[in-house]
Amino acid sequence: MSRFWSDFVHTLVPYVPGEQPKMERLVKLNTNENPYGPSPKALEAIAQVSDDALRLYPDPDASALKQAIADYYQVTSDQVFVGNGSDEVLAHLFLGFFKQDKPILFPDISYSFYQVYCGLYQIEFERVPLADDFSLAIEGYQKPNGGIIFPNPNAPTGRLLPLADIERLLKHNADSLVVVDEAYIDFGGESAIALVNQYSNLLVVQTLSKSRSLAGLRIGFAVGQAPLIEGLERIKNSFNSYPLDRVAIAAGAASFADEEYFQKTCSTVVASRERVSAELSVRGFVVLPSSANFVFARHTEISGAEIAAALRSHGVIVRHFSAPERISDFVRITIGTVEQNQALFDALDAELKAR
Ligand SMILES: *Cc1c(COP(=O)(O)O)cnc(C)c1O
Repeated sequence: MSRFWSDFVHTLVPYVPGEQPKMERLVKLNTNENPYGPSPKALEAIAQVSDDALRLYPDPDASALKQAIADYYQVTSDQVFVGNGSDEVLAHLFLGFFKQDKPILFPDISYSFYQVYCGLYQIEFERVPLADDFSLAIEGYQKPNGGIIFPNPNAPTGRLLPLADIERLLKHNADSLVVVDEAYIDFGGESAIALVNQYSNLLVVQTLSKSRSLAGLRIGFAVGQAPLIEGLERIKNSFNSYPLDRVAIAAGAASFADEEYFQKTCSTVVASRERVSAELSVRGFVVLPSSANFVFARHTEISGAEIAAALRSHGVIVRHFSAPERISDFVRITIGTVEQNQALFDALDAELKAR
């Protein structure tokens, strides 16, 4: 704390990211990173762009990356916005679209950064409870609101809302912007980007951090009709003209050009997820159906905090949320390599045997 802080800084409650341990040798299953590296083509692009040209500013419009995304999703590049991680894209859209007279709506169990942005930009919000089975109850979103946002699949539950339900939500809220945060969509869902030309109130946000294994480069994007993108560009150009560096632009574009590697790694993660779910069930866990690269599971006899602590003592870190109460017995476990997943099973077996 400093006497130079403005009063406003005292009111902020920042997001707390998952631990990035300095210690090697831990099996890190806590922040939903991809266990397989980025596409070799992305790495090649990084090597190629890493030369004397780095003294020059990057393209402020990141046109090469926008075009690669537009081509991939068959939209036009004026329907694509890119940012320094999807967290930055989210920040800009909260400021640009969600400062309204009515509160915005998001699920009570969801990505906790949404609430942090509401604090930063002084946006009113209301949390809509998930159904008892942790699915998104769309009836809860049929009330006056200043906008709607949710991850799909949801985080940290991993549950997927089918596209048909998203369409119902869009139709019921024709006068509100509906933002679908698709950080995990490539692990088993169908992207709502297919609907953007049909619905002017839809904005889809994605990231290259999870399915494309580029968390370290910080690349996120949004797809929507051009007037929405234009609003985001106004904010971006009032904040930072060059949010994406030369390395990120080149590697991001190269990643979209390597469909084969992308499909192969995503399907490996999906197959491992089914295996991990089954192995956890055998060991006394209730596992929510997941369409993401993580599972959300609770042991029927051991508390979530105890499971997380026990795994840690065996060198495996997972994510535990002590609040809200309803999920305090769950742990969120990122799908790792076959070896990492085996380390998880071994740690659980050692712990369960010791009890
Ligand atoms: C990981 C994640 C993000 C942030 O992704 P970055 O692009 O790395 O900033 C956004 N939303 C959800 C739901 C996430 O899980």
